[in-house]
Amino acid sequence: MKERTLSIIKPDGVAKGLIGEVLNRFEHAGFQVVAMKMVHMSKKQAEGFYAVHRERPFFESVTDFMSSGPSVVMVLEAENVISRNRELMGATNYKEAAEGTIRREFAMDIEKNVVHGSDSPETAAFEIGYFFNALELVRL
Ligand code: GDP
Repeated sequence: MKERTLSIIKPDGVAKGLIGEVLNRFEHAGFQVVAMKMVHMSKKQAEGFYAVHRERPFFESVTDFMSSGPSVVMVLEAENVISRNRELMGATNYKEAAEGTIRREFAMDIEKNVVHGSDSPETAAFEIGYFFNALELVRL
């Protein structure tokens, strides 16, 4: 079944010039981009995005990082795109990520790990709605 996911090229990925590299991997995988924009999140917007992690010890740090510079946020559509995108990304901790994954190749540490991808259909629905309204999603 076709599904949608929210992908973010995080501030470290944008700063390192990895927008094209990441998009290339998505397009090669057959993911279709149905919405995309640059955003420089405020601290408050980053806190809202990562609200599920409010109680985690790294919440303060990750929301500082996510509001430290521009990101590219996009909606990808394909069969099973949520899990397929997580496979392309690799594990949260790049040291545990499989060979050839985006995080294994480009992440600097567990926090500055280049990309975000929704982890379930429920999360995807929340995260897509956080950045895009219905008019901003193209119909394929
Ligand atoms: P993801 O779904 O693979 O992005 O991982 P999580 O949802 O568990 O964590 C969200 C984001 O918080 C990660 O992508 C990292 O940027 C950051 N993060 C996760 N774990 C840690 C940690 O132990 N320390 C720090 N500083 N950041 C973390």
